[in-house]
Amino acid sequence: SEDRVFNFAAGPATLPESVLKKAESELYNWRGSGMSVMEMSHRGKEFLSIIQKAESDLRTLLDIPSDYAVLFLQGGATTQFAALPLNLCKPNDAVDYMVTGSWSDKSLKEAQKYCKPNVIWSGKSEKYTKIPSFDGLDQNPDAKYLHICANETIHGVEFKNYPTPKNANGLLVADMSSNFCSKPVDVTKFGLIYAGAQKNVGPSGVTIVIIRKDLIGYAQEITPVMLDYKIHAENNSLYNTPPCYCIYMCGLVFEDLLEQGGLKEIEKKNMKKAGILYDAIDESNGFYRCPVEKSVRSLMNVPFTLEKSELEAEFVKEAAKEKMLQLKGHRSVGGIRASIYNAMPLAGVEKLVAFMKDFQARHA
Ligand code: PMP
Repeated sequence: SEDRVFNFAAGPATLPESVLKKAESELYNWRGSGMSVMEMSHRGKEFLSIIQKAESDLRTLLDIPSDYAVLFLQGGATTQFAALPLNLCKPNDAVDYMVTGSWSDKSLKEAQKYCKPNVIWSGKSEKYTKIPSFDGLDQNPDAKYLHICANETIHGVEFKNYPTPKNANGLLVADMSSNFCSKPVDVTKFGLIYAGAQKNVGPSGVTIVIIRKDLIGYAQEITPVMLDYKIHAENNSLYNTPPCYCIYMCGLVFEDLLEQGGLKEIEKKNMKKAGILYDAIDESNGFYRCPVEKSVRSLMNVPFTLEKSELEAEFVKEAAKEKMLQLKGHRSVGGIRASIYNAMPLAGVEKLVAFMKDFQARHA
């Protein structure tokens, strides 16, 4: 609508307008309960219906089998960087990490405190613009799990398929924070998937963990109770007070994604949006440049630079004047980054592309 901007932020990020309107209409008095979701007991029947519906809609969206648990947790994806090794290994166990950008690097560094991670591939020397072919990966057959970041939010590198872990129980673990629910995913290929909500499915404050049930119950002795998957699974994410309102918002987003036809439809829309943006970059005769190898370019986070880098600040400023916000690249890499999650409308990307062409015409 008129008073809304196009928000290209990497997260917290734009949410579907229809979801915000629905939340607004239910904010003061949720479905005749006489109170807001923010005020409800997390153990009351109203909130139980909200969290159960959110879980069941997510299960439908991602086709999550019954031998997987779905947990709604706190502490962001960052907390999961520690929870993974604490729950899935002993201090001397080896694990494999692929380092494809800043986020997998951060998860690796946290794992170093609780087990013995090994970097089996790093894209650092190539500035995190690639994902290797999986055949040549030197996986440790004794590794307890293989960790990947399915979409690197800062570098814009996305796995289009997944490596097969060589470890005994075939355990692949993925940080899907920035491409969660952006496309169908075969959950059965993973032992564990985790994602902070604030990019594709809701506000910050809730982190979703999808874990194969047989992996639950082996946490290291020192594991804080809040990081122990067994505690949360046994208590249906209600061991302590959960982020109730955030879970409610995620539930509204899941409903909306189902109404749009599910993740196959969502993926089509995302491919179209990313397609026109990457085309605009590639067809600019070098005025704009995306450093990421074409086959692994992210559908969610599109980083690019200007050949005349001194124009980047001007680009961001002029775009903001036209109500396109948060286009500055991450402070660690500079340049421009357009995050175009599920809730970014095609019209937003079309407007950005038109602006890019106009900006180029004026500054070429
Ligand atoms: N992993 C990825 C891929 C991310 O993009 C982010 C946040 N930008 C994180 C982890 C950290 O998430 P949080 O801030 O929720 O801890």
